[in-house]
Amino acid sequence: MADSNPVLRRLSSESSVSKADAVVIGGGVIGLSTAFELASRGMLVVLVEGNKVGSAQSMRNWGFVRQQGRAPEELPLMIEANRKWRELEKKLDFDIEWLQGGNLRLTNSPQRAEEYRRWIDMARSFGLDSKIASPAEIDQIIPGFQGKYLMGIVTPSDGQANPIKVVAAYLRRLRNLGVEVYEDFPVDAIVTAAGRVVGVQSKDTFLATPIVVVAAGVGSGALLKGVGVDLPVQFVRQTVALTTVVPSFTQACVWTGEIGFRQARSGNVVLSTGGRGDVKIDAGTIRSLMSVTHFRHSASMYWKNREYLRIHPYELLQVFRGEQRNNDYAPNYEDIENSIRVIRSYFPNFDWDVTLAWTGTIDGTPDALPVIDTSARPTGLVIATGMSGHGFGIAPAIGDVVANLVIHGESHFDLSAFRIERFQDGTVKNPHHLL
Ligand SMILES: Cc1cc2nc3c(=O)[nH]c(=O)nc-3n(C[C@H](O)[C@H](O)[C@H](O)COP(=O)(O)OP(=O)(O)OC[C@H]3O[C@@H](n4cnc5c(N)ncnc54)[C@H](O)[C@@H]3O)c2cc1C
Repeated sequence: MADSNPVLRRLSSESSVSKADAVVIGGGVIGLSTAFELASRGMLVVLVEGNKVGSAQSMRNWGFVRQQGRAPEELPLMIEANRKWRELEKKLDFDIEWLQGGNLRLTNSPQRAEEYRRWIDMARSFGLDSKIASPAEIDQIIPGFQGKYLMGIVTPSDGQANPIKVVAAYLRRLRNLGVEVYEDFPVDAIVTAAGRVVGVQSKDTFLATPIVVVAAGVGSGALLKGVGVDLPVQFVRQTVALTTVVPSFTQACVWTGEIGFRQARSGNVVLSTGGRGDVKIDAGTIRSLMSVTHFRHSASMYWKNREYLRIHPYELLQVFRGEQRNNDYAPNYEDIENSIRVIRSYFPNFDWDVTLAWTGTIDGTPDALPVIDTSARPTGLVIATGMSGHGFGIAPAIGDVVANLVIHGESHFDLSAFRIERFQDGTVKNPHHLL
């Protein structure tokens, strides 16, 4: 057999081949949490990261750990994740600035207010503590707040953590567990033979393994395409700013539709554009839109989120002209200006200014639900990706679920909504939209 198959022939002759029970591709929180859970159950794990661990979304996010607003399909997993966050500091033996200060969402839209009421009823059926926040409660959560909103919902059990410390904590713990972590190791291909995964290839290095977990965020689509698996994802760039230190005023994560914010332990405020972002258009996006199914899903996703998403026609022009874009990491200064203006109007007594700004690119699936799947061919392929802007909070549960799928072949969570096949078999739903 090995003689006739070039991959197996190389496997048996290659002396530098390293063998692992599982290779995790992607050093974001999903890959880190998965590697941690697999290694904690005694597996020999190698984690490979094309750049630096955490350097994509996982250290650039806002640090909200919210159950609030999650789709019913995702909620049981997120409630489990919340339970795990409360123990994570101890489990990782690291101060990650975990704070269970609640999540407050405000709106001025009567339609949204109605959606929130319905969502609260749904969430209560899962035992969640979400409720409508009275004006007095809002004042207690964000004292001195001058914004005027029609309605608010609060979930006191939600929390927050420092994304940079979370990545550092997982990384340190992985090393303690003996997980080999290779940075600057971009995987070019998942190698298969006779319908099974046999390893991963990066430039001239081959890592042999029977199990590959694809947790590569925006890089997952290309890797999966190489093994014939189609993942329809769109990318949205968002700008985040860090303000100067202001006096301590809230422990909650707050989202008003216009902006989102949380005060870090340092006193700086992580300030977001409230969900607004720029749809990334490149040659890959255009290619993917050639498929009628992808086009339909993308159009529906865009329409549902149209108040937040911006499309720049000149980017389309650049693709057709074959021009390279170099501004993928440039923050959107108009967004920063707007966010600062809004937070000044909310809290006029504070001296607001910006110390830092950055961007991050979100990988969004058409229904804004992740893909968690072990059933796709080739055998040994595990997909844990497409976190659609929610992956930081849910990561501890995803790692656990994936480890159970790999080791026991099952999970006690209903994962049917997360199958990759949903994009092909017509069962994909419209995105639930309640950020
Ligand atoms: C601005 C912003 C704010 C957000 N705020 C929140 C929030 O408050 N709460 C929340 O829950 N979520 C939030 N998110 C979403 C959350 O950050 C992501 O869902 C989560 O970090 C995804 O983790 P990941 O491991 O799947 O992907 P990533 O963190 O993107 O990691 C994937 C890794 O794979 C690597 N990779 C890619 N291709 C390859 C390859 N071929 N070979 C090797 N490595 C490869 C990349 O370099 C990258 O490091 C936010 C995201 C952004 C951008």
